This record gives sequence, C-alpha cells and structure tokens, in this order.
Amino acid sequence: MGNFSRQLAKRVLTRGPEQGFCVICGEYGKLTRDHVPPEGCNNNRDVVLQILHTGVVPNSKAPKTFSQGGAHFRTLCERCNSYRLGTRYDPELVRLTNEATNIALSTKEKRIVLPRHVSVFIRPQKVARSVIGHVLAATAVEEATSGLLSAPFPNALRHYFLNENEPLPEELDIYFWIYPGRRQVVVKNSAKISLGRRGVLFGHILKFLPFGFWVLWKRPADVSLNLPQLVPNKSIGPDQLEQIDLDLGVIPRIDFPETPNDDEVILLRDETTSVGFQK
Ligand SMILES: [Zn+2]
Repeated sequence: MGNFSRQLAKRVLTRGPEQGFCVICGEYGKLTRDHVPPEGCNNNRDVVLQILHTGVVPNSKAPKTFSQGGAHFRTLCERCNSYRLGTRYDPELVRLTNEATNIALSTKEKRIVLPRHVSVFIRPQKVARSVIGHVLAATAVEEATSGLLSAPFPNALRHYFLNENEPLPEELDIYFWIYPGRRQVVVKNSAKISLGRRGVLFGHILKFLPFGFWVLWKRPADVSLNLPQLVPNKSIGPDQLEQIDLDLGVIPRIDFPETPNDDEVILLRDETTSVGFQK
C-alpha cells in the first residue's frame, strides 16, 4: 500500500525554475517554455499530463498536471528554444506533420482507401534534431534545476544537436512510424528486453499525432525493427532531402513500443515519462 500511495503521488513536472540550466546546451540563465512536440505538431490544445499509464483517458486517481495551449516544459534557454529549434529544425518536423496527419487519421478511421505505400520527402538531419531537442526538453525539470546528467547517451544527443554539420552518431538509430493516436507520449531512458533474445533496446520514445519516434542507443546489431529509419544515411548533409517510404500496411499497435508484449519486459522510471490527453 505504501508503494501504491507513493506511485499515485507522482506527477509530471513541467515548470522548471525561472533561472536554471538549459537541458540542451547546459548554460545557466533564464529558462523558456518549450512545446513538446512543437505547437505546429498538433500540440496547441489544452492538455492533461500524467505519468505513463495504459489508459486512454486520464486516470482519475492519479495527479494531473494541466498545461494550457499544448504540452510544454520550461527547461530550455531562449537560444535553443526559439532559434535552434524554432527557426532551424522545427519547421521541417511541422511540415512533415502537416503532410502526414490526415494519412494517419485515415489509417484508423478507414474511411478512404489508402495506397499501401506513401513516400515523403524529408530533410532527415533537421527532423532528427527537432525530435532530439524536444525529447531532451521533456520531463527534464530535475536537470534544469540541479544541472545536466552526464552520460554517454545524453552527451551524444546534445553534441549532435548542437553541431549542425556532424553526422548522426554511429551509436544512434532513430526509428519512426505512423501513429494515429491523440495521446502524446514521452518515455525517456527506457530499456526493453525480449525474452529469448539477447540485447536490450535502450532509448527515448516520443509519440504524437501523426508519428512515433524511438531514439535508440547502441541497438544490438542482430535486432532489426520492421520500421523505417529516420536517418538511414547518417552522414547526409544538414539540408539534404531524402525520399522515405512509409508502409501503411505495417502500422504498429497504438501502444507500441512502451507497452511490452507477453514475451517482453520494459524498464522505465516514472519521473521521466509523461502521457498527454488533449481536451
Ligand atoms: Zn540552451
């Protein structure tokens, strides 16, 4: 019962200090609110945030955090938020979202007949940096208050984000897929283990209408997910376009990958998860 009570007391923290550490560049100073995902990615309506659970509506017994005008976290400096993300990288993710939202909704509603494959043209390095920047900003109030955690995975994400001409590090793979859900999901530092398979899938998950993204660190070489990679050519230039094929016949379960199958286990820390329910 004690554990259960503590569990219920956990809430998603969104308001970092007014002055704190930017969770991307690490500089100490005034912090600003970052929408996760960007406002233009179907994230402009009031939202209720809770720590991750499998329900399709907010859990009435668990604490709620209300976030007006979309889910946002006060964890970034002005430069990372407005210039690096807002001006450099987000427009590409917003454009892709606008192209794919109706396709995603149609896969669920099945009102129109869709082709099996859809091609999208994207600038992979920009979309990847947008995704990584917002994942770093989400559920990171603790770091914004006390200072950045230094470890190979977050250090690599920050270094890549801040250095526009660098390739995506070899240790990183970003998978993405059509996600026709309205629940916004953030799960950071989760480890998924499949019984009977060696190796661990460790990384961050970000899902919002119309995409899911899974940023994996040191993916075991013998594990391939039946999904497209966002940056298949890791050294493609920062502004180069790539054609990526989305297979509408292979859409993962709506609760993939944060909910394990019967033969899987997932380890995560409640404090770095959040699920958003739009009003
Ligand atoms: Zn910054």
